[in-house]
Amino acid sequence: MKRFLALALTAAMVLSLAACGPQKPTHAGSSAPPASSSQNPAPPEQTPSVYMDIPQEYRSWDENGKNINFERLTTAENGMVAALRYEPAQVGVDIMKKGGNAVDAAVATALALTVSMPQMCGVAGGGFMTFYNAETENTIFLSFRETAPMFQTAELWVQDEEGNVIGEHNMYGGLSVGVPGEVAGLYQALSEYGTMNWEDVIQPAIDMAREGYVVTPELYQWIEYAYADMASNAQLSEIYLDENDMVKPVNSIIKNEYMAKALELIRDKGPDGFYKGAMADAMIHAVQNAGGVMTQADLDGYQPWEESAVSGTYRGYTIASSNSPSSGGTFIVETLNILENLPVYEFNTVEYWHQLAEVQKMVWADRGQYMGDTRFVDVPIDGIISKEYAKTLANKVDMTKSQDFSYGNPWDYETESQNTTSFSVADKAGNMVTITHTINGVWGSRVYVDDYGFFMNNQLGDFVVGSGYSNSVQPGKCPLSSMSPTVVLDPDGKPFMTCGAPGGVTIYPGVCQVILNAIDYKMNIDEAINSPRITAMGPSIMYTPEMEQSVLDQLSALGHTQVKEGYVGIPTGIMYMPDGTLQGSAEATGVMGAEFSDGVAVGY
Ligand code: GLU
Repeated sequence: MKRFLALALTAAMVLSLAACGPQKPTHAGSSAPPASSSQNPAPPEQTPSVYMDIPQEYRSWDENGKNINFERLTTAENGMVAALRYEPAQVGVDIMKKGGNAVDAAVATALALTVSMPQMCGVAGGGFMTFYNAETENTIFLSFRETAPMFQTAELWVQDEEGNVIGEHNMYGGLSVGVPGEVAGLYQALSEYGTMNWEDVIQPAIDMAREGYVVTPELYQWIEYAYADMASNAQLSEIYLDENDMVKPVNSIIKNEYMAKALELIRDKGPDGFYKGAMADAMIHAVQNAGGVMTQADLDGYQPWEESAVSGTYRGYTIASSNSPSSGGTFIVETLNILENLPVYEFNTVEYWHQLAEVQKMVWADRGQYMGDTRFVDVPIDGIISKEYAKTLANKVDMTKSQDFSYGNPWDYETESQNTTSFSVADKAGNMVTITHTINGVWGSRVYVDDYGFFMNNQLGDFVVGSGYSNSVQPGKCPLSSMSPTVVLDPDGKPFMTCGAPGGVTIYPGVCQVILNAIDYKMNIDEAINSPRITAMGPSIMYTPEMEQSVLDQLSALGHTQVKEGYVGIPTGIMYMPDGTLQGSAEATGVMGAEFSDGVAVGY
């Protein structure tokens, strides 16, 4: 129970991050930027370069700077990247046009995202890649998740009498920082599965950092949210604030010369440019100065690792997704296995949502009980994703009332022989790559690395607080993740779709529902991504804003009383059409203050 509570707390913290509205800047000595500043676009500072402007059809704002929706469904013949920002998607497409394969494009896109979505991901973060190789028909899963430093222990997060970590040191500051995996992971992905040089795939990110990228309404809100951090550091003020110490307005350009130089070092020396020498010294200094324990030995010891994807089937389709240290793939497969035994109700009816919520609650209970880094703890993954186990759980659904579920006993279904196992890239040949990468919280630990232009992650916040649990912190261990980069093959074994999402613990339920929408309801990728979704964790249900009030009322009548609006993953995805063309899209709803997201699919 204590473990469940701790997990629920972690979940609540992740969710509350986006649930609370943007904080008004509190910069002493300067007034808050006027609420209308995002509505008054300033003219661009100089002639836009290829990545400094966003073409009209991909813009989430109008000529008055007002946040707007736009058509996100994109169709293309040869290749496509669906991402939560335009420029990195365009970078990936440009790489494919130059003859690069899907992995080349994915690595270039990931690096470009570290520049233009610095609040979400970064070179000092980590992530996962799921890659379906059309030639070998194999799917691999590459983990470059952050690990706990060797001097990190559960006791370092001192708790008060109510179990809260004093000072939120698990979420902010040096003690929340995991050993970064991003640079080593992307480098390994390219070396093993790409065709292009590291120098060529990193160069667009360097150019973007140096020449600049545009402030969208969404980015404006995220900078405003961390205004106090930006205002209290000279370099961050220079990068993200204007000459009056206000958040740079929508349409202005952000340049990050510090980041350009950091990426040049990584370009010229490979991972050694990041994990050794001056940049490593700066990171260690920043982390230790902020109370953390990361050392050079931690950076020297970091290694990404590859394993099979977690794989299952749903109505003949094959699903391959993230393995440990993510819970994502395992619990997508468990959810689909249970649902396979149950009726397919009409979409968006109370029956549909109630049944899904009951299944999600059982899955959530298993997640809290069993999941952790399998290199440190035994997890019955084969049992959790077994079809037989799913049947026993399906029988527990009562369509007349909402129930509380405890975890099941998947150990009884564990077998020796079975092997188990966000942006998306897809090409004409059927190669699919999905990478979900992150610095965890928005702007990570808020520990900024001076002179190098980036923030350190706060990935250790994904551990439960306290020792003795599957997901307790231990030196070298990865915190449990929900990230679910997923590929799906149709019943003939042909590439069908790829999907992934950020969104903390709402990721795997979100990705799972995009898959359900595509398979059970034959939605196109845009409808599959932009239809209502829920996530039920214990007694509470989070629903996306598209949900109708009449349906919510009926759910409360069944006993689902703790329902509230939020987000359920923020997906992007690409689907293969029967004629071989590609269709892609992205979540349209913004989180935080922005009404609409910057997510796009770009193809050629
Ligand atoms: N740290 C989260 C995880 O690994 C992802 C961060 C997010 O998308 O909010 O599950």
